[in-house]
Amino acid sequence: MIYNSLGKTGIKVSRLCFGSLTLGPLQKNLSIKDGAAVIRRAAEMGVNFIDTADLYGTYPYIKEVLNDFPNMVVSSKSYAYDFKTAEETLNRALAGIGRDYIDCFLLHEQEGPLTLKGHWEAIEYLSRCKDEGLVRAIGISTHHVAGVRAAAETPEIDIIHPIINYKGVGIVDGDLEDMEQAISFAWSKGKGIYAMKALGGGHLISDLQRAFDYIINFPYLHSIAVGMQRIEEVEINVDIFNGKVPNKEKLDSVKNYERNLFIQDWCTGCGRCIRRCQQGALSIGKDKKSQVDAKKCILCGYCGSVCKELAIKVI
Ligand code: SF4
Ligand code: SF4
Repeated sequence: MIYNSLGKTGIKVSRLCFGSLTLGPLQKNLSIKDGAAVIRRAAEMGVNFIDTADLYGTYPYIKEVLNDFPNMVVSSKSYAYDFKTAEETLNRALAGIGRDYIDCFLLHEQEGPLTLKGHWEAIEYLSRCKDEGLVRAIGISTHHVAGVRAAAETPEIDIIHPIINYKGVGIVDGDLEDMEQAISFAWSKGKGIYAMKALGGGHLISDLQRAFDYIINFPYLHSIAVGMQRIEEVEINVDIFNGKVPNKEKLDSVKNYERNLFIQDWCTGCGRCIRRCQQGALSIGKDKKSQVDAKKCILCGYCGSVCKELAIKVI
């Protein structure tokens, strides 16, 4: 496994980062024991970097694994926009993972300079926490080219977690080339960069090798977060990141393992999920219930987090 320093933060991370969203209640909803076993296998194989969020509900899995691998690098994120929400969500992260510091704390889904400005109080709070040693690095996650560029120009931001994959799936305000140029610019500014949705949230899994070839060879990334739910997926992904030819049987089983968004009949058509989806993938259908445009959906599961009826889920 290759390890890189995450920009100027001094934090050393494995090239493969464990994306934990897929284990938790928004997706597979594994038991703590089973979910922790998947992360543990990755840690045994050299993955030292794990991505989570306030929203994902995966702190309990991570806490379990940190008992055996206390030095894993943990990156979390929240929708904090002011002092109070930043304090609450950071405290929840620290309590959730059972440590008195977190390596990286990011602000979710930043769209550009205006959203960064709107979240400035949270950034100031996190900067103070960085001085006090509670947070080692501050960052943003984004599906927007303008989000990457704005963060690149902001000295307080150490880390950027942008969406990028070979088809440009999920980039909201531009195409793949725009995103590549923005990431290269952020790299030139010394930002730590780890990619999300290299497999397009699962859409590109049937062409796994091509998706990984692209992302592994893209030169401006320190690490790449990949969502994993099963031990076979971990073993295949680590092999690919180590430049080995993966076991064919395991590879076929992973390729045939599709994820989908399901909307249950008890959907009331309230529209909360539609307002939540940044990809414009949801709308109200003729039956007055939410419906998904599978071509636009990147299977992030964020819509599920706002459904009070628990009627929408990625499985
Ligand atoms: S939030 Fe839930 S109940 Fe409301 S429209 Fe979406 S799926 Fe239906
Ligand atoms: S429909 Fe839901 S899972 Fe799909 S992109 Fe939108 S928020 Fe994400």
